[in-house]
Amino acid sequence: MIRPTKQFTCILIWVCLAMVSEAQVAAGRSKQLAITIDDPNTYMTPMMTWEERNHAMLKALDENGIQAGLFVCGMRVNNPAGQKLLQAWDNKNHLICNHTYSHHYYHKSSLSADEFIRDFEKGDSIIRGYRHYTKLFRFPFLKEGNTDGKRDSMRWAMQNMGYKNGHVTIDAYDWYIDSQVSEALKKNPDVDLTVYRDYYINHILNRAEYYDSLAVLVYQRPIKHTLLIHHSLLNALFLNDLILTLKQHGWEWIDASEAFQDDVFNLQPSILPCGESIVWQSASLVPEIAPTLRYPAEDQKYEEGPLKMAIDRQRKQKGKL
Ligand SMILES: [Zn+2]
Repeated sequence: MIRPTKQFTCILIWVCLAMVSEAQVAAGRSKQLAITIDDPNTYMTPMMTWEERNHAMLKALDENGIQAGLFVCGMRVNNPAGQKLLQAWDNKNHLICNHTYSHHYYHKSSLSADEFIRDFEKGDSIIRGYRHYTKLFRFPFLKEGNTDGKRDSMRWAMQNMGYKNGHVTIDAYDWYIDSQVSEALKKNPDVDLTVYRDYYINHILNRAEYYDSLAVLVYQRPIKHTLLIHHSLLNALFLNDLILTLKQHGWEWIDASEAFQDDVFNLQPSILPCGESIVWQSASLVPEIAPTLRYPAEDQKYEEGPLKMAIDRQRKQKGKL
């Protein structure tokens, strides 16, 4: 009997992913996604004050009638300015959710479950007074535990406090692009940011299509997605463009409260180390798909080369003009 090679299986899965995506478009299925924004902060950045950044993101959401889920890391907002920031999101009816107090990396072997649970509870204490306080928890770096004891302790602690995992379905690496925008602006405040905007929007589009195709392959049905992005200068500048471009590509924006009703957010895959997008987690348990997955699912190392190439291309084109 001829057995398919690992390489052949990978190619076959990639072909299936592409076919799923095309079939969905042909069937006219509207692909649904919600915005979740991690790590709101009042840090200094080039170009805008924190108030201007915050206002720009809220305005983009408001103008497009979208309710986001805001995942709050307590230490970044535990001051009067931070409280003002959270109040602005609460006033606009966005979900105020927990992202721990200290943003610990849960896979660190020296970090115990007890210590992490205390930090999760401390994060809860920062947000529980807000009107739109919602018991959704997002693990920092999407790392849910490197041992079964740590993973299951947090699952128990969340259940005990009435929390649900605020999973990401569409993982992305916007924070790296944001860091490059800040670097470029520090070197030259007049730098043309078009290349960063285009790269960012294409990156999100690409990741959205990938995780959506993977979800249909794994769950045999479309799911309501949650996109991960960050509270940053990048999104203050380009969130509105991102929203409009995804709409043009057949994506329907839905409220975060609606997205989190999907059954996919109740799944608890038994994987170790545990983490990444919930779609990635489920896919890693399917033997035919697992070999096609990269780890980490998203990383700076996948983006730095292509972004540098895009910037060089822009420079060369400008040189010709
Ligand atoms: Zn975070």
